[in-house]
Amino acid sequence: MTAADLALDAQATVAECPIWDPGRQGLWWVDIPAGRVHCFSPSTGEDVSFVAGEAVGAVATRRDGGLLLATATGIVGCAADGSGRRVLHEVDTDPPGGRFNDGKTDPWGRFWAGTLVSGARGAGALYRLDPDGTLRTMVTGVSVSNGLGWSPDGRTFYYADSPTGGVDAFDHDAETGALGNRRRLVDIDRGRPDGLSVDAEGFLWVALWEGWAVQRFSPAGRLVMTIEIPARKVTSCAFGGPDLGTLYVTTARVGLSEAELREQPHAGGIFAVAAGVRGQPPGVCA
Ligand code: CA
Repeated sequence: MTAADLALDAQATVAECPIWDPGRQGLWWVDIPAGRVHCFSPSTGEDVSFVAGEAVGAVATRRDGGLLLATATGIVGCAADGSGRRVLHEVDTDPPGGRFNDGKTDPWGRFWAGTLVSGARGAGALYRLDPDGTLRTMVTGVSVSNGLGWSPDGRTFYYADSPTGGVDAFDHDAETGALGNRRRLVDIDRGRPDGLSVDAEGFLWVALWEGWAVQRFSPAGRLVMTIEIPARKVTSCAFGGPDLGTLYVTTARVGLSEAELREQPHAGGIFAVAAGVRGQPPGVCA
């Protein structure tokens, strides 16, 4: 059985949004409620971070070496050390008071991120920030916007709105980023679908919140592998390492009782799995 090794005992409240940075050979990730943005170097074990000053749902790398953050305010640009923060787009939810959650850059440099409002079903949306700076609303009526990914041929977009209990597929136009023909691909029967990553073979790896696992599904939606993770709240996963052959898995410790924390002392940590397959190169935004 493929095992998950503890890579970083981060003790994060909600570690999320792992994204590999080939230039730094580091893994960016966020602790959402702490509003902290981290970069972990697996080769040295070093993890450096900065405070964003508000909840951060996602981080993305930019071509100039800076970052995009998807936050409670909206979409924010900053340098890699968190300095020079500038709000690029203010985004609120309907009703207001929500925040950005998961986000990811596609292979064409478009940054996609979605929102949620705690306790308000359907109040969020999925947005797309294009390289020319235009922000578009792509999906409305979203409850808890989570995992995103693209098939290697660019023709399919995968999306998890967690409370729906599954992962949907859309037709995707790689040229324009347009979406159509939404349909259910996978129903999850073990916790809820959270973050996801699509490997170079086009298979999906879905992190299971409350599910103690990451599961791999074929492009047709067939379950082909389950990797047990020693934490109940598995939040997301991304391929990294020099050959993109390691699946990094983030987890959370939020809401766990003392007894549960004794059972899963590394909840909130980042785990590494020798996936046996490579990921797609991570996207970089303008
Ligand atoms: Ca998430």
